[in-house]
Amino acid sequence: MAIKAVRGVRDILPSETGKWQRVEAAARKTFEAYGYREIRLPLFERTELFARGIGDETDIVKKEMYTFDDRGGDSLTLRPEATASLLRAYIEHGFQVEPKPVRLYTAGPMFRYERPQAGRYRQFHQANVEALGDVNPAVDAEVICMLMDFFRALGLGERLALHVNSIGDPGDRTAYIARLLDYFRPFAASLCGECQARLGRNPLRVLDCKVPDCQPVIEKAPSILDSLSPEAAKHFESVYVRTTFEVKTADLGAQDAVAGGGRYDGLIERLGGPADPGIGFAIGLERVVLLLGEADAAQRPFVLLIPLGEAALERLMPVARAVRQGGVSAELGYGARKLPRELERANKLGVAYVVIAGENELAAGEAVLREMKTGEQRRVPIAKLSEELRSLGEQASPR
Ligand code: AMP
Repeated sequence: MAIKAVRGVRDILPSETGKWQRVEAAARKTFEAYGYREIRLPLFERTELFARGIGDETDIVKKEMYTFDDRGGDSLTLRPEATASLLRAYIEHGFQVEPKPVRLYTAGPMFRYERPQAGRYRQFHQANVEALGDVNPAVDAEVICMLMDFFRALGLGERLALHVNSIGDPGDRTAYIARLLDYFRPFAASLCGECQARLGRNPLRVLDCKVPDCQPVIEKAPSILDSLSPEAAKHFESVYVRTTFEVKTADLGAQDAVAGGGRYDGLIERLGGPADPGIGFAIGLERVVLLLGEADAAQRPFVLLIPLGEAALERLMPVARAVRQGGVSAELGYGARKLPRELERANKLGVAYVVIAGENELAAGEAVLREMKTGEQRRVPIAKLSEELRSLGEQASPR
């Protein structure tokens, strides 16, 4: 019997990789525009790193890790998330001497033994961002802004909502709301109309307000952490991630969290490093790709060059190469198949153009250029062909 992929672990097929590349490029471009630098981290670490960094009591560490002893007897674990590894690297390479905040990003597969379902896998991918060493709330604002810019760059801004999570027991929340009200009331006049109404109805909602003028007041609002019961505080500490924000969608069913993040001051110290604070987020890339849907074209060559016979193949080979060197994707038939078969292939590939060169055309030093969508065709001198295809290709997808 043929061997299949492991449960919860999937192949990303060529029909999807175009979307993946778009998502990865948008992440890279957005993060680098904000001054974040890429760091590449190992896929496995000492088990102890995650036990300490994520917390012994968390579901991830208790139930979800892929842990094994290597041949030397060391207990190792496939990383279930990137933050602990990134902080380990931060400490190990002395990043704390760099200007703060130290801005880093990374992306790649994570591993968790969870029950697989749509949008939830045992090997999945994240893009992770961390800003380290600076407690200024402006860093938080920048990090969240950047996350939303990433989604906007992919045209997903409208379909997502940013949530600031409330945590704690019901009793904590009552205490917290009272503290929030005490804090906000003196500033009420400087808040937007909507926020003023929220103070009466549900003060927690003020924290979600996006109006720029409200932000300076909101940023300095008391934290729910100071209102937590000792029990919740203990639990919270063991979890380490002071979850403060999450990006959700209504379009993915049960797996509605697309990204999550927050502050984790104290964690670097717990891992044996300096008392540097940190804030970061993780984007679930599978879910972003799912949101992009089918509209996003699969990767396909722009043109199929069809030589009819050996002589034509010889003429079209250098043309194909010149087109490719110009960054336009071209496929070349090898002259052995009949024209109808090649045209069928062109349709299946979904190319925008085909070039056909047989004996007649060659004798005139020309080839036929056909636009697949309209069926229109014209003759182009072979000497001009690569230039023509490059310019058509660039018009179709400007770089
Ligand atoms: P977390 O590291 O648990 O805060 O998760 C951050 C993001 O990663 C989530 O918002 C999801 O989008 C994504 N994610 C977490 N676990 C999985 C999984 N098992 N499969 C796919 N995506 C996941």
